[in-house]
Amino acid sequence: MLAPACISTDHPGYLSFIPASPTEASSLFDLVVSASSIYGGSWLEGSGAIYAENQVLDFLAREVGLPSGSGGVFVQGGTLGNLSALVTAREWHKARLAGLGISWNGRFKVLVSEESHSSLKASAKVMDLDLEPLPVDERGSLRGATVEAALSRAEPGEVCAVVGTAGTTNFGIVDDLEGIALAAKAHDVWYHVDGAYGLAGALDHAAKPLFKGMEHADSFIVDPHKWLFAPFDACALVYRNPELAYRAHAQHGEYLEHLADPGVWNPSDYAFNLTRRVRGLPLWFSMASHGVASYREAIAKNIELAAEIAADIKTRSYLRLVREPQLSVVVFERLGWELADYRRWSDALLASGMAFVVPSSHGGRPNLRFAIVNPLTDFELLRGILDSLEA
Ligand SMILES: *Cc1c(COP(=O)(O)O)cnc(C)c1O
Repeated sequence: MLAPACISTDHPGYLSFIPASPTEASSLFDLVVSASSIYGGSWLEGSGAIYAENQVLDFLAREVGLPSGSGGVFVQGGTLGNLSALVTAREWHKARLAGLGISWNGRFKVLVSEESHSSLKASAKVMDLDLEPLPVDERGSLRGATVEAALSRAEPGEVCAVVGTAGTTNFGIVDDLEGIALAAKAHDVWYHVDGAYGLAGALDHAAKPLFKGMEHADSFIVDPHKWLFAPFDACALVYRNPELAYRAHAQHGEYLEHLADPGVWNPSDYAFNLTRRVRGLPLWFSMASHGVASYREAIAKNIELAAEIAADIKTRSYLRLVREPQLSVVVFERLGWELADYRRWSDALLASGMAFVVPSSHGGRPNLRFAIVNPLTDFELLRGILDSLEA
């Protein structure tokens, strides 16, 4: 009754948006989490489970070069992760300005790339601040010099955060994370990295150099439900100095005071949330079951497949590769097609049960996009899809 009216996001042919591909271990453990009423908001009630979640956050922080003492919380998704990080950034920024005696009565501003994710715009709206989208280079990457120039133009105190994107959603392109970090540091501005989709790529040794500069981030997010093979809904939100997040987010109330033991780690204090399930555990259990090496391999395989199919696209005269992929997103056009042609083809492909590939666009031109996060997606399947575009 339900299934026929839903599309399986973990099917190897589901290649649109950002698909899902949870391991069996993670899905099974999600059932365990759902079936046990563990409260993940406070150490008092959930310390065993929270300890395990924190192991994963610590692993992710170390993997991208953040120091020990970093920490955070698994929130529902990247949108909430970005919002929570930006709220922390703004509160820190306000306290810093007060300390310096700088008064800024205008609106605060967050600098982002023009290809950054829509959730940043949504966060800015909720926070009632302005987003300044900065131009990217021809590869789609925001450069440090562009951020430096924007920071130099801004009024003192105006910019409360700079966001780098570690893997854009539409193209999987990583910003100049190091150059942006240096610019942010030079101006003493909070540096957040949105790695919801792409930061998982840092687990691949070959792709790792793309993420150089991550180690300077004040906060970052990565969604296990995207490319870390965990079920919906999980975003790892990590801060270099979690105390700053505590100051921004901890809720206080008579009914909560019993939990507020100094020195005790209550995950709810680090994001815009209170009651929470221990949604980091499915990833923890799966990583413990499979070992980190198999995660590295699966991610590397996706990236290699993206490069292979991009090379194949370049050999087909009826297709045009829009950009050289960096991670596991491949974007291309079918020459001579209008949006209506793409839609007709896409509907037929889905109806056939072969794959789910919907049109996206860039610069007003429709295109097609493979987002590859499933280790079961293979070259033959992708070639078959390309063949079906020839007719
Ligand atoms: C998907 C995505 C988000 C939003 O994450 P959700 O989990 O869908 O809320 C934010 N940033 C980037 C770069 C993304 O790809």
